[in-house]
Amino acid sequence: MTDVPDDHPRAQSLRTRHRIEAGVEKGITSKQGLIAEGRGEAYDYLLGEETIPSADAAERAAAAQLLLADHPVLSVNGNVAALVPEEIVELAEVVGADIEVNLFNRTEERMEAIADHLRDHGATEVKGLAADARIPGLDHERAKVDEDGIYDADVVLVPLEDGDRAEALAEMGKTEIVVDLNPLSRSPRTAAIPVIDNIVRAIPNVTDHARELRDASREELEEIVATFDREEALKEAERAIRQGDLD
Ligand code: ATP
Ligand code: MG
Repeated sequence: MTDVPDDHPRAQSLRTRHRIEAGVEKGITSKQGLIAEGRGEAYDYLLGEETIPSADAAERAAAAQLLLADHPVLSVNGNVAALVPEEIVELAEVVGADIEVNLFNRTEERMEAIADHLRDHGATEVKGLAADARIPGLDHERAKVDEDGIYDADVVLVPLEDGDRAEALAEMGKTEIVVDLNPLSRSPRTAAIPVIDNIVRAIPNVTDHARELRDASREELEEIVATFDREEALKEAERAIRQGDLD
């Protein structure tokens, strides 16, 4: 990986880009993933490349929702695997979630490469390879999930998910947490908890909140989820992007 000096004004963004590039070279990330990354970077630039307060509130609500869940699942695609493999494994441990590989452009090679990559980063069990259940209302390939994974989950964290699948999962009655930098995209708009933040900042921050909330009572956790305002979170992010008051 190319060394990016720490004092480069856009160091984090360049490192992220390199990680996606390496993901493509390793067969983890699709070419479509490169385009998604470019789109994400543009929104992140306008957000000031920081976690805005409404996103932090969403991350705290996400942590509470994951801790409350009977069966939480973290869905992983090629971009997520390239950018935050260790961080996903850590979050799964802290909240007791399953990890499932779920791809828009599903190929067996890419499924295996991502599962291996996650295991290299400490995952013990990776779901998604059985593909023995289907999400209703989607075409065959894109509907594939594991019966004892996403299909059975009550709460699903779906970073960078496409709009159709996010809608289909919500139709199934799942509580969705969507991480996406575009507040206007359909995916966060269908989510119970839209997290408008870069995945590289969002996942570690959800984990921090979850650690802090680990000993909280169910009532406290339910209160955090109930007082979270999804409309406000979407509006605040859109306002920040449109206003673009970059320091
Ligand atoms: P739809 O309305 O169907 O969701 P879309 O144009 O949003 O269409 P997607 O495939 O969902 O299509 O696009 C990828 C999404 O992922 C974009 O909204 C982009 O902002 C977001 N994204 C890309 N990289 C990141 C990242 N690192 N963190 C968070 N979000 C990201
Ligand atoms: Mg989208």
